[in-house]
Amino acid sequence: MKMKDAMSLRELWGNKPCDHPTLEKEYERGAATGDYVCIQCGEAAWGKNWNKKEEVSLPVK
Ligand SMILES: [Zn+2]
Repeated sequence: MKMKDAMSLRELWGNKPCDHPTLEKEYERGAATGDYVCIQCGEAAWGKNWNKKEEVSLPVK
């Protein structure tokens, strides 16, 4: 998915909750950015498994 399309998705989705069922690699001018985008809400984050909370050990803030 292009970064531009991810931004449009985020605007359309708004602030609704999303469980990020499917991620897609993010591209900017044909090059992968290293981020993966949720195809439902458009949220982008590093790593192809960031939507799988149980597989990621996040630091406790
Ligand atoms: Zn999402």
